[in-house]
Amino acid sequence: MADIWEEVRLAKTIGIAGHIHPDGDCVGAGLALYNYLTENYNQDGKKTVDLYLECVPEAFSFLKNADHVLTKAKEEAQYDLFIALDSSSIDRLGESEALFSKAKMTYCVDHHITNTHYAKKDTVDANASSTCEVLSDLFDFEKISLPVAECLYLGIVYDTGVFKHCNTTEKTMQTAGKLLSLGVNASDIIDGTFYQKTYLQNQILGRCLMESILVLDGKIIISSISKKIQDFYEVKPSDLDGVIDQLRVTKGVEVAIFLREEAVQEYKVSMRSNGIVDVSKIAVFFGGGGHVKAAGCTMRGSLYDVINNLTLWIEHQLTNGESK
Ligand code: AMP
Ligand code: MN
Ligand code: MN
Repeated sequence: MADIWEEVRLAKTIGIAGHIHPDGDCVGAGLALYNYLTENYNQDGKKTVDLYLECVPEAFSFLKNADHVLTKAKEEAQYDLFIALDSSSIDRLGESEALFSKAKMTYCVDHHITNTHYAKKDTVDANASSTCEVLSDLFDFEKISLPVAECLYLGIVYDTGVFKHCNTTEKTMQTAGKLLSLGVNASDIIDGTFYQKTYLQNQILGRCLMESILVLDGKIIISSISKKIQDFYEVKPSDLDGVIDQLRVTKGVEVAIFLREEAVQEYKVSMRSNGIVDVSKIAVFFGGGGHVKAAGCTMRGSLYDVINNLTLWIEHQLTNGESK
């Protein structure tokens, strides 16, 4: 395994970034690494460590140093080491892609099966529930403080849907257990970051469920939200977290699809599978990525074209028992 700590020791300036539309794993991993490096590798303050994320959703802002996150790329910066987190391909880094590309050394820590190995060195574990689980392995347990443990725990909780998705392994539970032993308040984190919704978030969830449709004998459930409705209710992408999870648990459904219109005739596609269908293959075909049972991509065209294209692929996998 490539030694990330050797690279960290050598670097005087370190940049860290996660993917666009940062989720709980991405923010948790970013702040876990930022805090871990600052606490253990920069006591004398001689290194510069910068963490870039497009934004920090309100629910995650309690994490230590969430207010240190940089949301705009320092254009003039050239880092000795740039570490990409939870991002399966370089374009997922958004504005930070340019900083990554001109860094002297690059490293990627990730858990996506579709990772394109775009960094010079990487640690990618597709069996891990989350990037936070991969980081927990890379970190020296003795050096993990309570604030770092909180960041890691949040990421694991988020990507496993509170330990219920099939990416939750014995190892995941052991890792989470070790973090609990450091004093993490599990129920506060789980309620505060996963279950608690604002009134608006609940309203929009209700609307998306109400407007969902079933196709292919109820094996596929689809819901969408237009740009107009998002603007009207002033909802951010992170306000829609949870819609796809609720769609997936509809009885009889094999695949759930949620389409969020990002621009005219441009949809952010989220897909979840309950077993038979490998949605990562469909996402990769349309230029995205993800995991076998949770994947996403961006598609252009009318809502009906997008739905038709996706359902054709899913139907093919369902009828042939294999991916197209
Ligand atoms: P989401 O449906 O956005 O929650 O994403 C499900 C999984 O697929 C996550 O692990 C994402 O990182 C991944 N994913 C979503 N969209 C993309 C994309 N456009 N490219 C690559 N991976 C993606
Ligand atoms: Mn993520
Ligand atoms: Mn993740």
